[in-house]
Amino acid sequence: MIRASQKLSKERHTSWREWVAGMQEKIAEWWQDTMPACIRQEVQNLEAIEGMIDELLQHCGQTLVTHWVTAQVADATESHPPCPTCGKPLRCVSRHRSLHKTGRFGECAWTRPYWVCGAGHGGWAPADEALELGPEHLTPTLARFVIEQAIDRPFDQVPTIVESAWNIPIDGETVRRITERVGQQAELQEQNQITTVAREREEGKTPGGNPGPEGPEALLVSVDGAMVQFCADHAWHEVKVGVSVPLALSSAIGPAVRGVGMASPDYCLGLESRPDFWPRVYAHALQQGLETPSCRLVALLGDGADWIWRYGAEYLSLPGKTLIEIVDIYHAREHLWAFAAAQFGPGTAAYTAWATPLNATLETQGVAPILEALAACPEDAARDPAETRTHARYFHHQQARMDYPRYARMGLPIGSGIVEGACKTVLKQRLTAGGGMQWTRKGAQAVGTLRALHDPTSGIDFGERNRMHELPRGSPNPAKGAPGPGLSTFYRH
Ligand SMILES: [Zn+2]
Repeated sequence: MIRASQKLSKERHTSWREWVAGMQEKIAEWWQDTMPACIRQEVQNLEAIEGMIDELLQHCGQTLVTHWVTAQVADATESHPPCPTCGKPLRCVSRHRSLHKTGRFGECAWTRPYWVCGAGHGGWAPADEALELGPEHLTPTLARFVIEQAIDRPFDQVPTIVESAWNIPIDGETVRRITERVGQQAELQEQNQITTVAREREEGKTPGGNPGPEGPEALLVSVDGAMVQFCADHAWHEVKVGVSVPLALSSAIGPAVRGVGMASPDYCLGLESRPDFWPRVYAHALQQGLETPSCRLVALLGDGADWIWRYGAEYLSLPGKTLIEIVDIYHAREHLWAFAAAQFGPGTAAYTAWATPLNATLETQGVAPILEALAACPEDAARDPAETRTHARYFHHQQARMDYPRYARMGLPIGSGIVEGACKTVLKQRLTAGGGMQWTRKGAQAVGTLRALHDPTSGIDFGERNRMHELPRGSPNPAKGAPGPGLSTFYRH
């Protein structure tokens, strides 16, 4: 800003002084109008006082933004900027095309020169690019605030928050559009990264470049799923959540303090098919140091669903690293109680007497006592033999993944609480919360991707789509003939 003010011409300096004076006048006027009225009334409470001052500041903010931007636009007017696509000089179709934006201080308007490419590459306002404005009606500041609110709650609840925080009216549809657009941008970045990683993996390189020695001692990877409803078919679709957490395996970390040494978890969320979801999980695990030399152990924690182990081994079984598969102990316990219910009847004395000790020893003695107890249960005495077979089979199939005493000695987590917590925070609270929440596939993915990010709006280029305003399909070449009403259609603000 210092540089800009140094560049101010004498004449510009005068106009700057003029509008500062104008604003001073405005404040003085407001003061004179407001004060007598306030004094006449009962004593105002602080909330009311702050509210009134807020209105004044909003008005001043609008004036300041408008003048500042107008001055900057006048400074930045270039003679004949080249087309960003073909490099040919653009043609100016208006020196003063108006632009309205709703931002931190409400609606502001200004004008700026508008150019079009003679070869049909669309229209361009260089000033918009300098201001890093996106195609949306909201300024980046307001957009960021709106998005931060919208990833935590339904779109139509956001306008009330914006209204109460900043006294700015917006509608729920704007909230949806901008959140989904920015989310799609974030998802596109994520897809690019997944593609790069997949290509490197295919070429036999260690993905993610050459990782340095810095990395975790071990990495916990876990996946889980939940269902979301789409508005197109009203059907429920599985959305998957992946979590990777760097672990410190110091010998000091025993079962009593399990979880100490866990760094902050990284989440990812995908609506793609189960096999397509794993490249995403893998790309995220890489960011957490999966391929670093220090990471010698990978723990894969799941609920016992077959696809988790199948694809997990494909992506996480790496040379020089030990892969340990762990069935979430809470799921194992659920199957234990479900077997007891099918064998003895739920809530019966036999049910409690059989399952309680096994439930207690599962963590310290592992699955062996359960397998013995299952073998000792006569199938012909079962209340529901088919059910008992299902749960017994679960323990037989998963027994190698239930060596809890060993995992405890190693300091590995044995319960997927962290994943289910993530599933709940990242996913259920927003995508499935409340009845009747319906999504488009793109919208759900966009909001899910934003929710999974630590800092959802950082790194988002709000001006990205502004480089060139697209021409609608089949529109006449604006460079030929008079710039008629057709122009406003590809000028998308
Ligand atoms: Zn061009």
